[in-house]
Amino acid sequence: MDKIEFKQTFIERLAELYAMEVSDATPIELYQTLGSIVSTTYTKQWSKSWQDYRDTKQKQVYYFSIEFLPGKMLKSNLLNMGWLEIVEEALSELGIKLDDLIEIEPDMALGNGGLGRLASCFMDSIASQSLPGNGNGIRYRYGLFKQRFVDGHQVELPDEWLPKGNIWEVRKDSKAVDVHFGGSVHLEEHHGRLKPVYHGGYTVRAVPYDTGMVGYKNGTVNTMRLWDVAIPAEEEEHYRSIEDRRMVEELTSVLYPDDSNEAGRKLRLSQEYFFVSAGVQSILRYYKNLHLPLEQISRYIAIHINDTHPAMCIAEFMRLLVDQENLKWEKAWRLTLQVMSYTNHTIMAEALEKWSIEMMQDVCPRIYQIIEEIDRRFVEEMSTFHNQGLIQRTRIIQDGQIHMAHLAILGSHSTNGVAKIHSDLLKNVILNDFYVLYPSRFNNKTNGIAQRRWSQLANPAMTKVLNQTIGDSWHRTPTDLHLLMNFTEDDEVLEQLAAAKLENKKRLAAYIKEHKGIEVSPEAIFDVQIKRLHAYKRQLMNLMHILKLYFELKNDPKRDIHPRVFIFGAKAAPSYHYAKAIIKAINETANLINHDPDIQDKIKVVFLENYNVSLAEKIIPAAEVSEQISLATKEASGTSNMKLMLNGALTIATLDGANIEIREAVGEENIVTFGLTEKEVYRYYQEQNYRSLEWYHNDPVIQRILNAFIDGTIPNIVNEGKQIFDSLIQYHDEFFVLRDFADYCRAQEIINQLYQDSRRWNQISLINIANAGIFSADNTVERYAEDIWQIRPNPSSQLGGAAQHDCYPL
Ligand SMILES: *Cc1c(COP(=O)(O)O)cnc(C)c1O
Repeated sequence: MDKIEFKQTFIERLAELYAMEVSDATPIELYQTLGSIVSTTYTKQWSKSWQDYRDTKQKQVYYFSIEFLPGKMLKSNLLNMGWLEIVEEALSELGIKLDDLIEIEPDMALGNGGLGRLASCFMDSIASQSLPGNGNGIRYRYGLFKQRFVDGHQVELPDEWLPKGNIWEVRKDSKAVDVHFGGSVHLEEHHGRLKPVYHGGYTVRAVPYDTGMVGYKNGTVNTMRLWDVAIPAEEEEHYRSIEDRRMVEELTSVLYPDDSNEAGRKLRLSQEYFFVSAGVQSILRYYKNLHLPLEQISRYIAIHINDTHPAMCIAEFMRLLVDQENLKWEKAWRLTLQVMSYTNHTIMAEALEKWSIEMMQDVCPRIYQIIEEIDRRFVEEMSTFHNQGLIQRTRIIQDGQIHMAHLAILGSHSTNGVAKIHSDLLKNVILNDFYVLYPSRFNNKTNGIAQRRWSQLANPAMTKVLNQTIGDSWHRTPTDLHLLMNFTEDDEVLEQLAAAKLENKKRLAAYIKEHKGIEVSPEAIFDVQIKRLHAYKRQLMNLMHILKLYFELKNDPKRDIHPRVFIFGAKAAPSYHYAKAIIKAINETANLINHDPDIQDKIKVVFLENYNVSLAEKIIPAAEVSEQISLATKEASGTSNMKLMLNGALTIATLDGANIEIREAVGEENIVTFGLTEKEVYRYYQEQNYRSLEWYHNDPVIQRILNAFIDGTIPNIVNEGKQIFDSLIQYHDEFFVLRDFADYCRAQEIINQLYQDSRRWNQISLINIANAGIFSADNTVERYAEDIWQIRPNPSSQLGGAAQHDCYPL
């Protein structure tokens, strides 16, 4: 594609769509025009990709996830099509700034945080590795709430992203399927087999909206399929009342703003069954159209269960094979195990999904029967070889509750954790009983990130330096970033990288000024903690360290510390009052410190509102310190740690999640670690001898800081301050904040010292970038493809071929 041609097409398309010329069009119209050109162009490759998969009957994976968090897609599509530079120049010649159009697109925020973002990073990498893979999820009408601060409190506003128009989706009515809910089921003998007979209940239609997932310069365009709900025309008479219609519409109305609590329980379970049933039915329909024996389905289809929310895939697949396809139970079960695989994302007890028998019977009675039968057979089969204790601990139904993780493990051939330490904890502690039964099912797949989005798209300044220094092979082969290790002593390169960082910091400083009215110096250290607000992530410890610095500066205004800007981004689940109290406390502390003339701008605290993918793309390139300070064993992997490392931030970290692998990658001298280790945390649990009160009494620094929460030092937090104080003292500091605090302060002082030596700092930054390649999701999905899914790259993809530039002619 060339520039002149593109300009011509752009002008024509604008005229076709709006009967307008460039000078008269609004940014929205220009955005729609560009989006229309992009999507109509990749559509040819999109249909070619799926036709390829179908015609050559390649094995495909279906990644089931209740969340996807793609953020904006325009720039990513342009990059992956190989169009970014030409389009940017061409538009500029028409007097249009591409960045202005990119800003128009609403973030697609159908996810809460790490889990949903991982699913989207995987979608990008699966397509970029030419792997035949599809996403399957829910098209929520409202995405994750928009966060605003009012008097320092979090306020949630609905995220109405669809009325603004989603140019990437295609509704496919012809691919709709029906999903049945409720009623009751009994079994009747029919030609010597038991068949389910349904009474009552209601049927809804699941209508798919497909979005193209464009691979990086390889001509592959995969499908992310999100299901919306509709009332089937034939069933109209069953849905007369407004009440009934609303019940149906609610199914795909909201994303639950909390991925660890079971809010709106019945509706949440209905959502899970809705997208599971729709997805599995449409997969089976596709497979049957291939006219292959059902016995061979696992050679052609893999289904991945991302966390337990889609675990009913196992029972739904069984239902279709047994009830509809008349397979014998044993044969159906064998196929189910071969097709299914599961990723565990957390060891936090409150996030391990359980459903009461009554509710499951109420929502999907036949699925309950099948789960009951799976459970019955498991107990029966195990009783010959294993002791009752083990069986009772691992069975699916216990004390009237259905344990979804147990279903996911027992019904699949692979269970993986998301970082080495996490997978080891699953094997040795959390899921040890299952590991004893099925050792070969357990494996590790350390998370990864969409490398190109978090470098090329988010950080053009750094990308330019990297390209000039080591060429551009790292775009396709992220581990080639390692070539940068040849430049650790090259002052010119070190300074160029530092200059790129400074440029990004200036841009973020302007954003902060514009949105918060706070003046921050680009010469200060930009220290960043961005992630969901959760007690285990310990934003509170960060805040306590800020208060420590504040009191020290108040006592001794001449104290020499390098100026630092503490930047936060975090949403709290609306019902998570403790997390909201911490947000309020950070905001009030920010107010106090930012306006205190004694501090002379040595520290600034900035809490940016509405943390989401687009804001992450603004903050991360400017970050110098990456706060990864969760209590050891609690953060399964983390991925913002990887994004920040890739952008040259130095990590201050506990030995938790993927931080441990980051330390291995960069070497101990290029990361600052502190805090309790996994073993020490478990020793405390075992001996039950952590007394937070003693740490308060014995440490005057901690005392001074904690008192600030309740003695009016931090203004306007009477209730919140007490709640925080009580959590640490009265409720015994569940996440060992006081225990780790002194060591955290020591680590922060090391950071302060390191920053004085700017050459050394720049080297550390370079080494972090150079070693980030192993955390590319390209790598991660390759491991999944080989070890778990057994899928191979599409042979007719143009990956690396000479024709790659011709994938997307206008
Ligand atoms: C990467 C990312 C996360 C995950 O952050 P963690 O620090 O790994 O919890 C959450 N939200 C957004 C918007 C992200 O981009």
